[in-house]
Amino acid sequence: MMITMKRFLTLTVYIFSFQFVYGQESYEFDGTTISPGSKRHFSIPVSDDSGNETTIPITIFHGKGAGPVLGITAGVHGYEYAPILAAQDLIQRVDPGKLSGTIILVQIANVSSFLGRSPFLNPKDGKNLNRSFPGRANGSITERMADYISENVIARADYFIDMHSGDAPEDLMPYVGYYQHDDKREISFIGREMAVNMGFDHVLLFKTTGKEYMDIGSPSLYCSAEAFKRGIPAADIECGRLGMIEPESVQKIVTGMESLLGHLRMIDQSPIPSGETIFIEERSYISSPHTGIFYPVKSSGDYVLEGMKLGYITDFFGKKLINVHAVKSGIILYILGTPPVSKGETLVSIGIVN
Ligand SMILES: [Zn+2]
Repeated sequence: MMITMKRFLTLTVYIFSFQFVYGQESYEFDGTTISPGSKRHFSIPVSDDSGNETTIPITIFHGKGAGPVLGITAGVHGYEYAPILAAQDLIQRVDPGKLSGTIILVQIANVSSFLGRSPFLNPKDGKNLNRSFPGRANGSITERMADYISENVIARADYFIDMHSGDAPEDLMPYVGYYQHDDKREISFIGREMAVNMGFDHVLLFKTTGKEYMDIGSPSLYCSAEAFKRGIPAADIECGRLGMIEPESVQKIVTGMESLLGHLRMIDQSPIPSGETIFIEERSYISSPHTGIFYPVKSSGDYVLEGMKLGYITDFFGKKLINVHAVKSGIILYILGTPPVSKGETLVSIGIVN
């Protein structure tokens, strides 16, 4: 009797496992079939009509169990190294055998900017990929890269994360930002839940009440805004600064992504508790009234009061032109961290803390 019962249980477990394993179908990407519980690397060639060529390296993790598709981009700005190295870590850390759902991870969206050590812009055509979405299939090289990512990564995702850091001159504090629009309350709320479950102390709200994000005819420009516009909950990570590779920034991104995977129930792990989140709904910008040399006296993450000195600008002969003061009280999200400054450029962004 006992043996019969044991056999019955074994058979039941076997059938259950069989369904669990084979309940997930294969995933098609770039003409390749990926079996459940495996990962595949792809190098997608992109070229334009001016003879420019590049590749987009993409890893697909196809989970053993069924679940949502999470799209992730790193290296939209190729000089922002913390997210790029975090994506490299994720190749080893994400086990498709323990994953439910699928991750489409763009390792380095802008390889030309990365190899060219070019902040902000793709040196091949001088365009900023994060101002080029949704892109154009017959446009310049950057526009074609944006088009590929829009159609093959963003369009296939249920959730989307774009990973950035402070580019070469940007002294930036870590935060997650999510998109919000009054006509898209449910998607906005899901994006907010993603943002607060990534273990970052500060969460920014990207208010998109302007019609520019909703009009069919107007471009999304930003990578994650393209996702949001398509009805996909989306958030940006900003972690790392000044184009540096600080191990704690890389680790924070990896931990944040694993926390998000736990929140989305794609891995069996609890997300980092989010009770301490500080929300920032409004930002104040100070742009430079002069061209010259900027000397910051505050750093990103510093709390400042209205009127406090943040830095000063001199001409090229050492003569002080102006002191720069905080126009609002709050936390410094961004401050220019290197000397060159041109008239009209943003010197400081202050987050107004509620
Ligand atoms: Zn960036």
